[in-house]
Amino acid sequence: MPPRLSALRWLLPLLGAWLLPGCDSGTQGSRPNVLVVVIDTARADRFGCYGHRGGLTPAIDKLAKEGVLFEQASAHAPWTLPSTASLLTSLHPPEHGAGGFLDLSPLEAGGAPKVGFRGLPDAQQTLAETLGAAGWRTGAVVNVDFLDKTFGLTQGVEDLDAQWYDSNNEVRSAKETTDLALKWITKRQQDPFFLLVHYFDVHAVYSPPAEFRARHAAPVDQHDSNFVFGTRAHMLMLRGGKLQLEAPTIERAFKLYEAELAYVDQQVGRLLDGLQAHGVADNTLVVLTADHGEEFLDHGGFEHGHTLYQELLHVPLVLRFPGHLSQGTRFSQSVGLVDVAPTICDLLQVPTPDSFGGHSLARALAGGPLIERPVLSHGNFWGEPLVAWRSGPWKLILTPTGNGDADAGPSERVELYNLENDPQERTNLAGSSADVVARLRADLDSVRSFHAAAASGKSIELDAAAQQRLKDLGYMGDDSDAPHEEDPK
Ligand SMILES: [Zn+2]
Repeated sequence: MPPRLSALRWLLPLLGAWLLPGCDSGTQGSRPNVLVVVIDTARADRFGCYGHRGGLTPAIDKLAKEGVLFEQASAHAPWTLPSTASLLTSLHPPEHGAGGFLDLSPLEAGGAPKVGFRGLPDAQQTLAETLGAAGWRTGAVVNVDFLDKTFGLTQGVEDLDAQWYDSNNEVRSAKETTDLALKWITKRQQDPFFLLVHYFDVHAVYSPPAEFRARHAAPVDQHDSNFVFGTRAHMLMLRGGKLQLEAPTIERAFKLYEAELAYVDQQVGRLLDGLQAHGVADNTLVVLTADHGEEFLDHGGFEHGHTLYQELLHVPLVLRFPGHLSQGTRFSQSVGLVDVAPTICDLLQVPTPDSFGGHSLARALAGGPLIERPVLSHGNFWGEPLVAWRSGPWKLILTPTGNGDADAGPSERVELYNLENDPQERTNLAGSSADVVARLRADLDSVRSFHAAAASGKSIELDAAAQQRLKDLGYMGDDSDAPHEEDPK
């Protein structure tokens, strides 16, 4: 299908620096690089640039000051495989197909957990494939099995350095990851490059280097410097109902998590310094985000994959592109990680594939309006998928609760929160705001039907009202972020 060239018209003034006649825009060297940094499991509220006062993230806070920050960015799934697939394909989990769950019910009968993971189909188009086809050299340094070749998320990556281990204790450190990323940049910097760097240190098990442990985890971590929590054995016991969470243990784990984030921040700083040292910082778009957050008893649970509350969905999103994005800009509107890949395409002046379902933020980055759209999140690592629908200040969460009455069909728990007044999702308003629930549910049902039809490969037959609803919500190839002719340039 033809790329959405129309979406690029309005970018010409923004991108004029390398579009001007006489500039060597046709040569590789003039085209910008892109560095995408994904900090696995990094919840937004631990970053200084998102309001945390613990001094954990000075390097990333500086990056945000030099670039732009989206205050309300959401992941589309609470665990790595479907969420990162959404980031890299600009599709929601029901559309791209990567995901699944881990069924622990056989454990009760003494059996092994049942694994139901699905990789990203070859037919899906990734950001790496898109940029590779446009002439960018593509590389990735990643540290989890879900990003290895097996699951398809890194399809199209020319130089894939993927490593993962049986135990989360042994995972490649942020320092090693940074070393490899810088080594790759040294090798490829003669050409425009796309590099994905994935840090896994913040993910459980939390075992920060001693220096960071001492600085950020004391005093709750004053005894036993070998203490770890969040091993896979812990998680299996926890999900199987065989491990009770104790608040002091989780508080200590949270401090170690923070220390890990501080360590990763130091390494991100080193990576960014490396861009400078290689002389490519001024010609590199940097995008920093996370695939999901982490829970520390915020809603009575621990780790991730099991709910769609904000501690798991609210992720950092920071972009820096010297000379092209105004410094220190912050956007308060809600955006989703599906919006990242089309934004990168626009900023790099690469035609956006038709398959990308998100909306480019480049127009807003150039000073135009940011049209806020509802954000869909989906999935549950440990069972049947949950669904969250964020629309304006409202967030609807639907949780399956079994089949209930056979005649009534599947039942579900309904939660409604007003994130403006209640960002921690404490007060469920579903009972008192039935009209809001009905409105959000109608919108959500339209989109879910659209996804289900798309996933089945069948043609989608919708009446005019349903089509208009989907267009208003930003689906069905809506191109309303592209300006009208009368839009100011
Ligand atoms: Zn993850």
